[in-house]
Amino acid sequence: MTPDMKKQVLTSTAETVLARRYYLKDSSGKCVETWETLARRVADCVAAVDKDPEYHEQLRDNFFDMIYHMDFLPNSPCLMNAGTDIGQLSACFVLPIEDSMDGIFTAIRNGALVHKTGGGTGYSFSRLRSKNASVRSTQGVASGPLSFAAVFDAATETIKQGGKRRGANMGVLRIDHPDIMDFISAKEDQSKFNNFNFSVAVTDIFMQALEDDDEYDLIEPSNGKVVRQLNARVVFDKIIDLAYHNGEPGVLFIDTANRDNSTPQLGDFEATNPCGEQWLLPYESCNLGSVNLARFVKEGKIDFDRLRKIVENATVFLDNVIDCNRFPIPEIQEMTLQTRKIGMGIMGLHDLLIQLAIPYGSEEGRRVSGELMQFIRDVAEERSIRLAEEKGPFPAYDGLVNAYPPRRNAALTSIQPTGTVSMIADCASGCEPYFSIVMVKHVMDDDRLIMVNKHFEEVARKEGFYSEELMSKVADSGTVMGHVEIPEKWQAVFCTAQDIAPEDHIRMQSVLQKNGVDSSISKTINLPSDATRDDVEFAYLTGYRLGCKGLTVYRDGSRDSQVLNTKASSE
Ligand code: UDP
Repeated sequence: MTPDMKKQVLTSTAETVLARRYYLKDSSGKCVETWETLARRVADCVAAVDKDPEYHEQLRDNFFDMIYHMDFLPNSPCLMNAGTDIGQLSACFVLPIEDSMDGIFTAIRNGALVHKTGGGTGYSFSRLRSKNASVRSTQGVASGPLSFAAVFDAATETIKQGGKRRGANMGVLRIDHPDIMDFISAKEDQSKFNNFNFSVAVTDIFMQALEDDDEYDLIEPSNGKVVRQLNARVVFDKIIDLAYHNGEPGVLFIDTANRDNSTPQLGDFEATNPCGEQWLLPYESCNLGSVNLARFVKEGKIDFDRLRKIVENATVFLDNVIDCNRFPIPEIQEMTLQTRKIGMGIMGLHDLLIQLAIPYGSEEGRRVSGELMQFIRDVAEERSIRLAEEKGPFPAYDGLVNAYPPRRNAALTSIQPTGTVSMIADCASGCEPYFSIVMVKHVMDDDRLIMVNKHFEEVARKEGFYSEELMSKVADSGTVMGHVEIPEKWQAVFCTAQDIAPEDHIRMQSVLQKNGVDSSISKTINLPSDATRDDVEFAYLTGYRLGCKGLTVYRDGSRDSQVLNTKASSE
């Protein structure tokens, strides 16, 4: 560490997470890294792509600085694997499943190789012939996409991702696949398909039939023939029922996504990665990273100058990752190097809004967030265009088909969940609002440890309304709303996921999607436990109407196990 460098302070949660899963260990399992040496390992590895000694050194220092101070963090596989023997640095993969035994088991094998290195896989099961369709070679009948999905699930169960995280899969089925009804209810039994998120790929034709209260065609993928029709309302009601019940299936608006396909000459999108933020073509992979917006408020304003510098550096960083990445199979390497997609995202959006004293669910909150995302996208694009001048555009770029200037990366932005990296950076995850502001941890039988959000504590002390008693009351009620001790202005600013109206969640997703997100967004539309089926329907229809590319709803308490609980009583 240089003498004038400010030492980064880590929270104890961050230290625990890093020690368990990120710091390299010796043969006896003892950590041999610190946050500083980890940041150096990653920066050195990714900067080494550029050979010019002066440029290389500058780049390495810039990369180190932005990671060490957590202005930008790459996705977990990059933090874990850069500069190690595994060397696989991407979080997202989409693998095709061809309609043959060879195709299906090739996909399982490829998926296993991806999981082993810490990546997540998305699969579309839509090409597989339906249950009971004929199988020529055996003169029998097919067992259908769901029965094979169970094999993918079992394979994932047994493979730990490099021993560091579980495998995660997205399973997609088109709404016009003959087995769609079985797929919709496949996760009703919550003991099944636990290594999958399931999403229905909803088409525009279906949405039109729904509006017209009409039937739509089911198409057998093996021969393209219409096999029967279903009433769109019946199918939609089933999706709503199940999503209301436990949050699955999600929906992916596949035609909306394909209208934004930046390389249609290479094929169509069929699936996303596990958390839904990255649409990819078959065999494409993508490395992600997130700008920590919590760090860009200076004297009550967004520091756009510093943000520009970080986004430029991060664009070069993510582009370099493609060149030092060790791909799990040659097909993925070939496809990824054709399009060179990167996924620059954000985290700490809520921290930024809180620091500006703007409520997340307000018009102003959406305006600021939209402008910010657009700024990030514009800077990333400018840098990618310059990178194309320096190093060449992505090889599949075709000026006759692609109506944008030559750039280095076919896609630039997406908003990921940042489930773990936001814990390291101690900020709100991705574009989500905080889930709770004051929480209770039961340490011993009777000991209540009150954990107060750092921004809330700061404001409460400064404004003079901090007291242990109030914090305890906020923890018990699960919300800052309705406590007379808290001025209304601050009640609005510290609204959490449950307090924010579902429509405002969707509108935030839509504003970000339309203002600067190329691929998609991982976002949960939180509904209160007393929400109705109509609320879920409203959410899905509004998401479609507002141009979202996919939607996940979660009704409080609707899953057998819930990771986060707001109320102290249920902790
Ligand atoms: N992912 C995965 N396994 C996990 C968590 C995430 O494969 O246990 C993949 C998945 O593709 C997801 C992406 O990583 O969409 C990004 O997730 P997140 O932002 O939460 O990852 P982080 O970098 O914070 O660990």
